[in-house]
Amino acid sequence: MNIILFGPPGAGKGTQADIISETMSIPTLSTGAMLREAMKAGTPMGLAAKSAIEAGSLVSDEVVIGIVKDRIAQDDCKNGFILDGFPRTIPQAEALDAMGTKIDVVLDIEVPDEAIVERMSGRRLCSACGASYHVKFNPSEDGETCDKCGAPLTLRKDDKPEVVEHRLGVYHAETEPLIGYYKNKNLLVTVDGQKSPAEVTALVKKALGI
Ligand code: AMP
Repeated sequence: MNIILFGPPGAGKGTQADIISETMSIPTLSTGAMLREAMKAGTPMGLAAKSAIEAGSLVSDEVVIGIVKDRIAQDDCKNGFILDGFPRTIPQAEALDAMGTKIDVVLDIEVPDEAIVERMSGRRLCSACGASYHVKFNPSEDGETCDKCGAPLTLRKDDKPEVVEHRLGVYHAETEPLIGYYKNKNLLVTVDGQKSPAEVTALVKKALGI
């Protein structure tokens, strides 16, 4: 099954992606994670994307479309994949269609803006393996280091409140129009992302029939 996880930044897409990925044995393709990896590795693409990411703006369509196209072509995507954070603009969605990849479902995890800032300021990311935590909703065992690899947890630069406000503005302006795009294709399933993570997972699993 080819799945798009959709919703504002901080909706919990990454957490749900991990669970679906494990349950269905299909990979998660997170453009944000791939861009952060490229940034950390200091590749030309990573360096070019750095300022947009840190400012909470979008990286160019051309760059992210290229990343996704290469990744979807890999062998482990044959039996399905989860797109987390892509597409984020209408041209990206059109490019995905043009790749000839059939999308089975678009899960829209809805969370109002008021809840987002609180959620994102509590988010912590492992500085080594990229695992994500939340100080209140999903803390690591000791609150400071990663349960998986032991490296220190950090606050993403783009999770600072002033950057989050900007990211939400970008979401409403550039990304939200995709709701209509996928509604028209009868692919959209809306999930209430304000419920507890376990309840959201139950809704997501029900929507996917898993
Ligand atoms: P995320 O981890 O999905 O919140 O993405 C972090 C940042 O990476 C975003 O704020 C953008 O700067 C960039 N990014 C990730 N995915 C995309 C995309 N599909 N289009 C443009 N920029 C993206």
